[in-house]
Amino acid sequence: MKIPEMFGESVFNLQVMQDKLPKDVFKSLKKTIDEGLPLDVSIAGIVANAMKDWAVEKGATHYTHWFQPMTGITAEKHDSFISPVKDGKVIMDFSWKELVVGEPDASSFPSGGVRATFEARGYTTWDPTSFAFIKDGTLCIPTAFVSYGGEVLDKKTPLLKSMRALNKQALRILRLFGNTAVKRVFPTVGAEQEYFLIDRKMYDARKDLVFSGRTLFGAKPPKGQEMEDHYFGPIKSRVSAFMHDLDIELWKLGILAKTEHNEVAPAQHELAPIFTITNVASDQNQLMMETMKKVAAKHGLYCLLHEKPFAGVNGSGKHNNWSMSTDTGVNLLDPGSTPAENSQFLTFLLAVVKAVDEYQDLLRLSVASAGNDHRLGANEAPPAIVSMFIGEELAEVIDALEKDIKYRGKGKQVMKLGVDTLPDLPKDTTDRNRTSPFAFTGNKFEFRMLGSTFSIAGPNIILNTIVADELRQFADELEGAEDFNAALHDLVARTIKDHKRIIFNGNNYTEEWAKEAKKRGLLNLRNSAEALPYFAAKKNIELFERNDVFTEREVRSRTEIMLENYGKVLTIEALTMIEMGKKDIFPAVNSYIAELCGEISSKKAMGLSCKAEEELAAKLSASNEAMYYKIGEIERLLVEVKGISDAEKSARFFADKVIPVMQEMRAYADDMEVNTSKKYWPFPTYGDILFSV
Ligand code: ADP
Ligand code: MG
Repeated sequence: MKIPEMFGESVFNLQVMQDKLPKDVFKSLKKTIDEGLPLDVSIAGIVANAMKDWAVEKGATHYTHWFQPMTGITAEKHDSFISPVKDGKVIMDFSWKELVVGEPDASSFPSGGVRATFEARGYTTWDPTSFAFIKDGTLCIPTAFVSYGGEVLDKKTPLLKSMRALNKQALRILRLFGNTAVKRVFPTVGAEQEYFLIDRKMYDARKDLVFSGRTLFGAKPPKGQEMEDHYFGPIKSRVSAFMHDLDIELWKLGILAKTEHNEVAPAQHELAPIFTITNVASDQNQLMMETMKKVAAKHGLYCLLHEKPFAGVNGSGKHNNWSMSTDTGVNLLDPGSTPAENSQFLTFLLAVVKAVDEYQDLLRLSVASAGNDHRLGANEAPPAIVSMFIGEELAEVIDALEKDIKYRGKGKQVMKLGVDTLPDLPKDTTDRNRTSPFAFTGNKFEFRMLGSTFSIAGPNIILNTIVADELRQFADELEGAEDFNAALHDLVARTIKDHKRIIFNGNNYTEEWAKEAKKRGLLNLRNSAEALPYFAAKKNIELFERNDVFTEREVRSRTEIMLENYGKVLTIEALTMIEMGKKDIFPAVNSYIAELCGEISSKKAMGLSCKAEEELAAKLSASNEAMYYKIGEIERLLVEVKGISDAEKSARFFADKVIPVMQEMRAYADDMEVNTSKKYWPFPTYGDILFSV
């Protein structure tokens, strides 16, 4: 198999465009793609036709506008290319209109009140900057999704808007440093994806996995991850066959799948792609998750993307590696080799520092979900407190800059900051920190709080917007300065002084850090119910409006959607627990108790001791009864929460009232699992599932 030839074979990429399109059309389209310019509609017909011919040649029969509603997953509605001609025949047809706009019925997608259900119309519009591709015989056209009134209903549009904001402000900064060659700045992302692979039969036998994606019951198996033998361990042949197929499918789709390894927990793995421009990385991550599930099915496996499928072993996250790049190929978070480059680097770096400090709330809530609540702050993932790691050396440089003193590290010194005075910065920061939620890793930031199921669009909308806004403030200040170097020096020292509290280079998992963070005044939003309402805080609405990313109405509706979604997830989990409790666990344990009772009477008849049986039967009976009452309690709470119409109050009710009782019920069930004969336990245990492949 020739991988270079196969790579991207299902994608209508630049190479294909160049082959299939007239020269001038290609040039115009490429300009749109490279410079993010509006599309020249007059060429759309030619592009549509070429796209269709190419897709049909590859066996496609249908096309779809592929979009990302606020459900966090992708949506598609397939139409075939057939178009009737005379004599009852058809031709394969695809018009410019079909390429550029679609009109799916929008009424069943969440809009958070922006669009009443009776205004069913929603539009999808082509995003030419993300390539069309063929998936299962269907030509998929990445699109944005808006309402009839122009309100944004998806995750792609605000992402593109946030990229536009970042581009605008970053260019202003570059011009100040005398850079006139760069035409465009764009954020880049490499999203490392964690997941679990389990046997399909195990999955099918667990209603909790089927309905909620995670196990709602399950006692700790005798062996978990304590031997630390899974991380980077040898990959089992079935998993390796899966990974091999997955790579091929992803490569065909033009996704740069690069690194695959076993993760910390048994049955846990990771896939890292090579980074690319953010909107493409976001589309590709969605496609990657979908492909993982599909390929797993072919191997008799199931791919669990939930943040915490199993209690007691590590959950799955997604590391969002983020940087900014120019169209001339310069990574703006790469310390340079000249003083001017280094001053520029520090300016961008400090914009991120200030952004993370001022918008801790937004970053925190951008990764808030019922699933991720099980990870953040649970000593295996970053804490719920947002802080950043920049490494010892950079911290020393920054310290010296703030105090305006000379820095001597590794024979280098920092003098007054300016375009021609700053000496070499530590270029390859080798120190690593695995506990920080937001870590500088030499030439990019790694935002580590994302959950494994997340669309990366949300967190990246926030990242791009907050950094854009800080760059705007920097540019406003510096553009008006009489002496650029002096103004820059001032700005840098002040920014460090005001925002260094967000920098923490120690171990984020410790109790001391939580205390220290509190002293520094950092936010500690422990769960989604606490975090999500911050989205609609006044300062945040102003931020989004200032940068033309969201309107106030959009922010409010999205807050509502996220809060409601939290409640929906918990309702499904609670109902699943009730069902499994009543239909599976309760009767199973009773059957075992009945068997024990039978043994007790026959033993008694024989004059044998039956102390153990009696003790066990009594214990199980008490636990089963207690679990039964917990089920009743959950049922009552679910009725009560239905009466709370305010989304924020309802979310808090789930977090404070419903979850604790769910946990109590689980504790009884897990204890009974340990004490019940294997013959009676109604579904596979953790041991069965985690070591099934
Ligand atoms: P690390 O060892 O810090 O995890 P890697 O080089 O293995 O670093 O990269 C991890 C992820 O970061 C990969 O997905 C990679 O493509 C991505 N990455 C590297 N450079 C950048 C960048 N400039 N912007 C965004 N992501 C990047
Ligand atoms: Mg990493």
